Amino acid sequence: GSVIGILGGGQLGRMLSVAASRLGYRCHVYEPGAAPAGDVAHRLTTAPYEDQAALRAFAESVDVITYEFENVPTAALDLLESLRPIRPNRRALAVSQDRLSEKDFLAGIGLCTAPYRNVETESDLPEALAALGVPAILKTRRLGYDGKGQIRLSDAGQRDWTGAPSVLEGFVEFSAEISVIVARGADGQVAAYDPGLNLHREGILRTTTVPCGLPAGLLTDAVLIAARIVNALDYVGVMGVELFVTADGLVVNEIAPRVHNSGHWTQAGCAVDQFEQHIRAVAGLPLGDGQRYADVEMENLIGDDMLRLPELLTQPRCQVHLYGKGDARPGRKMGHVNRLR
Ligand code: ATP
Ligand code: MG
Ligand code: MG
Repeated sequence: GSVIGILGGGQLGRMLSVAASRLGYRCHVYEPGAAPAGDVAHRLTTAPYEDQAALRAFAESVDVITYEFENVPTAALDLLESLRPIRPNRRALAVSQDRLSEKDFLAGIGLCTAPYRNVETESDLPEALAALGVPAILKTRRLGYDGKGQIRLSDAGQRDWTGAPSVLEGFVEFSAEISVIVARGADGQVAAYDPGLNLHREGILRTTTVPCGLPAGLLTDAVLIAARIVNALDYVGVMGVELFVTADGLVVNEIAPRVHNSGHWTQAGCAVDQFEQHIRAVAGLPLGDGQRYADVEMENLIGDDMLRLPELLTQPRCQVHLYGKGDARPGRKMGHVNRLR
């Protein structure tokens, strides 16, 4: 059987490993830090992305390389790619590693994003603020997640700085946030899951609900947008596309070139969930049935939410997923539940 290499040993890598195992594949996870996927993968390498010998040994032990984490350094990717195919491809990674290139790409294929300006250094901020007005959001171009590296600016004279090259985004007045989990196979076949409604608290995704209760035409538009993105990138694998619903239509917030937290509901709602779908795509299998057969609410278990675990474990119609992380620090994603409604 083939071996799938996964860059990143967090919970997404863990759930990819489980899905791969079910299809008879073995997984080799490469993770520089703590690795909650380590105990479920068949093999784990714990080494920095600068360790060329470790990278080489990892690549040589696998048939294809995928990732659960989009911020792998370029030099490491260059070495890996010289040895084995990387799916999704390098362009998808390059585009999504930097919010500026991501927005340029999205705008370049004719999609609507928040109005934005490059704020390379602090001195670019006044002009960008003058152009976009307030409120606006300053976001670091690289490495941000769960709302980290973002500053909301509500006063045109405000000069707060993220400390790194950033983009300034005009504030989008949205009525809802949805996401499309889309998959594209090695043969170019595209399949999308039903869009989910996302609720955030303190910048972190709390719940995703399907069906999301929005008009069917809007959801079709959302799926077509997601398909346009994966086709433009000649993408192979699963992608998460976050969208704002506004009075003027759909605005793309951001894309993630990997399985996505807002797609965890597929574990309880679909015959083939996003993790299996991703493994199928990168392994060159046909995409599976992503139809939704149930109404589901996914709730993240963050920090102290773990205190509710005894109760959650005995709830009917409730699927509990835990990531095997030791320390339930505030803001840390420890697991999630999928409630069948
Ligand atoms: P993730 O964990 O999803 O990767 P992130 O740190 O990359 O999060 P974003 O998705 O860019 O952050 O923003 C987090 C949340 O902040 C969004 O889901 C949305 O609620 C709000 N937000 C971000 N950008 C804008 C905007 N331009 N206008 C209005 N709200 C915004
Ligand atoms: Mg993000
Ligand atoms: Mg986001």
